[in-house]
Amino acid sequence: MLKSGATIGILGGGQLARMLALAAAPLGLRCHVYSPEKNSCAFDVVHAGTVAAYEDEAALARFAAAVDTITYEFENVPAKTAAVLAKRKQVIPDPHVLEITQDRLIEKNFISELKIATAPYAPVHSATQLADGLAKVGAPAVLKTRTLGYDGKGQAKIAKASEANAAWRSVQQAPCILEGFIGFEREVSVIAARGQDGQVECFEVTENVHRDHILHTSTVPAKVSGALAEEARRVATRIVKAFDYVGVMGVEMFVVRSGRQQHVLVNEIAPRVHNSGHWTIDGATVSQFEQHIRAVAGWPLAKPKRLGRKVEMLNLIGDEVNGVARYLSEPNTAVHVYGKGKPSARRKMGHVTRVWPGK
Ligand code: AMP
Repeated sequence: MLKSGATIGILGGGQLARMLALAAAPLGLRCHVYSPEKNSCAFDVVHAGTVAAYEDEAALARFAAAVDTITYEFENVPAKTAAVLAKRKQVIPDPHVLEITQDRLIEKNFISELKIATAPYAPVHSATQLADGLAKVGAPAVLKTRTLGYDGKGQAKIAKASEANAAWRSVQQAPCILEGFIGFEREVSVIAARGQDGQVECFEVTENVHRDHILHTSTVPAKVSGALAEEARRVATRIVKAFDYVGVMGVEMFVVRSGRQQHVLVNEIAPRVHNSGHWTIDGATVSQFEQHIRAVAGWPLAKPKRLGRKVEMLNLIGDEVNGVARYLSEPNTAVHVYGKGKPSARRKMGHVTRVWPGK
């Protein structure tokens, strides 16, 4: 259990690290960010920073010596980096989680073994396997690279079998997973937290709308039945327990309907704080960032409750951040600008959260 004044090391220096550091400060905890990029936006708000490559073992050793415990803001931490650090200080969540969540195929197998439903899928390592996979999952389907894909990168939709070769070329014949395309009713996520004592707290189910594969809005309450919301939270709880996880995890799901009943299929899990949980900063009694810091510090988790009758988070992508002034004069609206400098297309530059007062 960390004492006030302790320092948490964070790998990665983007907006997630920035918001983690901002949540740590009121708890009397300091953050030290490690990032290969000197312009990382988290550096603006932290106690200490290291600019060095993830492969720089001497810098990693100095970083580990300077902090009390280590966490990360992204799932693609190189395995070697995590191993070097874990030898010196505790890394939370445990790096074994990364081996699973860095690879879409291993992740889907892990979820399926828990008897939790996903889209139908098949591994693809050759053109022949792609044809076999299409016969199994059917068209339309989505071909996704097993590693390093995000926000729609490394993905190709296959509307009919004749498009398979073009899709295989577009992902540069990298090892892939083929997924059946789900005609979902809506997309939701559950932000779950698990403490070092095994306590699990889930935030309310959040409804997410993507635009061009990037999260556009997150809204609570989600338009789902009470039974579906319970199922979604149960699924997320089972996943964090199966990992023996400590910290915050984002679990993205599709809501599908069979007859009158709604069900969830797990799409993806993120072993970190998640964009669809940003609404919790202004719209809940505790934020996902504070919850993660509490878990990493070995402190008890808080019981989260929504504030207001509705909360909506809107991402500011690219130069949308230049129009932020109009939100400053809107009532019950919180503005978050990440301080990333020049906006570029598809880059997450900030977000705004609107809270509708009342029950
Ligand atoms: P992902 O990178 O897997 O999170 O996918 C990004 C977005 O693409 C998802 O949030 C969905 O909107 C869409 N998508 C991904 N996989 C599927 C699928 N199997 N069926 C339908 N839509 C999908």
